[in-house]
Amino acid sequence: MAEPSGSALARQTLARLKERVACGEWAVGERIPTEPELTAELGVGRSTVREAIRSLATLGMVESLTARGTFVRSRTPTPSLLLEALSAYTPAELIGFRRAIDVEAAQAAAAQRSDEDLRAMEQALTDEMDPAHRGVDEAPAGSASRCSRFHGTIARASGNRLLADLEANLSAAMDASGVADSVATSLDPAAVIAEHDRLFTCIRSGDVARAAHFMAVHVDNTLRCVGQGLTASELTALTPTGDLPGRGRLGAA
Ligand SMILES: [Zn+2]
Repeated sequence: MAEPSGSALARQTLARLKERVACGEWAVGERIPTEPELTAELGVGRSTVREAIRSLATLGMVESLTARGTFVRSRTPTPSLLLEALSAYTPAELIGFRRAIDVEAAQAAAAQRSDEDLRAMEQALTDEMDPAHRGVDEAPAGSASRCSRFHGTIARASGNRLLADLEANLSAAMDASGVADSVATSLDPAAVIAEHDRLFTCIRSGDVARAAHFMAVHVDNTLRCVGQGLTASELTALTPTGDLPGRGRLGAA
């Protein structure tokens, strides 16, 4: 697979930012410099800085909050050995495994999400729907990362740190391999938003069965993008579903 241009530079930039979080120069809870500030300081393009910050967020080390900035969440990334190990697998294997992780995370999140978890999920969705936040120059990669971000909030809401770590590493592996970008360009953004909205509705209402079902349906749509359309599982096929109201903002999702 051809390497996306600029990704080597983004990796170097990521390494530099990661070091500053790891050594405590930017403390946990502290806001890191803005994109323009880092662009000027590091002498790289703004899109490179943005990509590096996104990767840092995927690793769980920082979190970007709309209109407030990017904050340090952890000095250590989720296990990097795992991330390296994941690079050995095909896109279909990565997404297939992610399906297992995400379905379990959705069930657990529906069962025990806190109000804070719900706020984080809703914020991720709001950012996803906001064209100004999205930016015109980053549509494919941005779509993928926002999908990752919403899924990350669900994994963290599961209350299982290993699930959250696995999810973060899978997202990072998919970003690093270019799978996330190619999937994002194949998916209809409006459909992804509607599916996320539906998932959020199920998790918020504590509907464990539907949360699992709609996560499976959602990831199966991604699997179709990598030519694995026939892997729709018995879970997707057998779980009974009915009409579900949306959150109101999208109408019937
Ligand atoms: Zn998604």
